[in-house]
This record gives sequence, structure tokens and C-alpha cells, in this order.
Amino acid sequence: MAIIEVKDITKHYKKAKAVDAMSFEIKEGEILGILGPNGAGKSTLISLILGIISADAGEIRYNGEKLTMGNRKAYQKRVGFVPQDLAYFPELSAKDNVTFWGRIYGMKGDELRTAVERALRFTGILDRQNDSPMKYSGGMKRRLNIACGIVHSPEILFLDEPTVGIDPQSRNHILHSIKELNELGTTIVYCSHYMEEVENISDRVMIMDHGHVVASGTTEELIDHISKDQTLYLKLKNFCGAERLSEEIQGVSAVTKEDDKYCFVIENNSVIVEVMNQLTNMGADIVSVDMQKKNLEDVFFYYTGTSFRDN
Ligand code: ADP
Repeated sequence: MAIIEVKDITKHYKKAKAVDAMSFEIKEGEILGILGPNGAGKSTLISLILGIISADAGEIRYNGEKLTMGNRKAYQKRVGFVPQDLAYFPELSAKDNVTFWGRIYGMKGDELRTAVERALRFTGILDRQNDSPMKYSGGMKRRLNIACGIVHSPEILFLDEPTVGIDPQSRNHILHSIKELNELGTTIVYCSHYMEEVENISDRVMIMDHGHVVASGTTEELIDHISKDQTLYLKLKNFCGAERLSEEIQGVSAVTKEDDKYCFVIENNSVIVEVMNQLTNMGADIVSVDMQKKNLEDVFFYYTGTSFRDN
């Protein structure tokens, strides 16, 4: 079931069609990864769904109900957002920062106290709750950002680059927490520049460019859609002539040589044995074997023409 349905949502600025008649669904309970080059419209899309900015056209439904100015406030209490920029008051303690956000979401008294403690414990900063965030490491500041975004136990949480600029240990902690939150029932929408993170954490990935959804599916589906080909790398000793196997074996679509390795582009795994047998029969000495399948990075490049690292 869809927790959020986006239909023909459009937001144009003078010089940019930031979001251009986009339609898609966010399924209840999933982790949806959103990827796109800079300027693709990701932030604008999230701001539209959060109701921070209004759309020029189109509609958003939450649990089937159309969002309007009238019900927007109630909706925003059920949705959480962890922005890319660290959003805390340096003069307040971590606990007071989280308490501030709890109040914004309308909590008070025991409910608020319990919620603040839960958010601080969940993000692993409870024992440093009375410190100013100014004394925190980069990773702890990011965790505080998350605590502020989840204090009201949102049904769906949007995270924009939540692991930017932090050490691997903090990154793992954050990713683990997000997974755990999802297992406890929160739907997650995750935007990141780290391809491996998106690949590892997401149930489904949506790639956007120029304000449109250009592809969506599980990583496997996306890869299979651009090509089912895999590359078999064989290092052969004192051998040449493997190129002709592309003509001799059905399922081998190309053979090239890179340094001391032959690269066999194969359509499925079943031809591997045939390639190896034939090479052995031809007198080849196979020194090493390696396989490589296309990855999300290749998918990103295929759809956007942009290398993720250059992005
Ligand atoms: P992303 O988050 O994928 O980098 P954005 O949503 O920030 O993309 O931007 C999409 C496009 O909309 C860009 O061309 C950007 O310059 C433009 N844009 C975003 N916000 C504004 C704004 N407030 N005013 C004018 N143009 C904007």
C-alpha cells in the first residue's frame, strides 16, 4: 500500500523546471533511495512532499488523503525530516535541542520527556545529552540532527545526505539506526551522494534527472534493465587468440584484451565453463579468474550521463 502518492507534481522556477509533472508512489514500510545529479530536483521534490513549498500543479496524497492547506499541519506532525544542513542551536544542550523540536510537534509533559529520551538513546547520544552540540564530533552532530527529526516518532522519515563528511564508524552507526527504525515500522526516504550506501540500505531506488523520474526499481532490476551482460576476466599465461571465442561460443558477445587480462562479455553464467574448457583445449594456462557485474554506478551513468563521483 502507498503511504504517499505523488501525481503530476510540478514546480517551475524562472530558469528551471525543478520538478516537472512527476508521478510516483512511496510504499508503506519501504526504504526508498533517491539518486540524481546535482540540480536534478531532489531537494525541491522533498520540500514539496513535506509541504514546505507549494506546487504549481499536481497533488500529493498521504494514506489516500489529498494534502491541502487545511490538513497540512496535521500531516507534518506525522512526517519527519533530517536536513542536509545541521539544524541545532549551539547555545542549547543536545537534550534541549531535541526537546525544542518535540514541542514544535506539539508534545509536552511526560510524553515529551519520554520521547526526547527515546530519540537520544536511539541515536546513541543519551550519555552526552547535557553537552552543547558544539562539543560534539561531526558524527555526533549528525546523530543529533536525526534525533531532532525522529523525536515525534514519524510514520515516514526523509533524510537528505545524513552521513555527509563523517567517519566510517559514525556512518555505520547511522545506517544501522536507520535500518532499525525501518524494522520498527518507519517508512524511509533516503537521499545520498554515497552510491554504496544507497545500494546497501534501499529496498528500491528511484533515479531522477531534470525534474523527472528516469528509472525506479530494486538495484537488481535496474541493472538487469540496462544490461544482463557480465564481464569475465581471465588472466592467461603465454596465450593469444582468445578473441575468436566471441564467434565460436554463443553467449559470448565480445572479447577484448586489457593489459594481461582477457575480458569476455558474457550473456549468462552458463557459458563460463564452456569458455574455460575451450581455452584449456586450445592450450591456454588460466592464471586467474574474476567476474564483474554492472552496478548502480553504471545504472546512474546510463540514465543521467553523469558519473556519480563527478556529480
Ligand atoms: P537537487 O536537490 O537535485 O540538487 P534542486 O531541487 O536543489 O536539485 O534544484 C533543481 C533545480 O531548481 C536547479 O536548477 C536549481 O537551480 C533550481 N532551484 C531550486 N530551488 C530554487 C529556487 N528557490 N529558486 C530558483 N531556482 C531554484
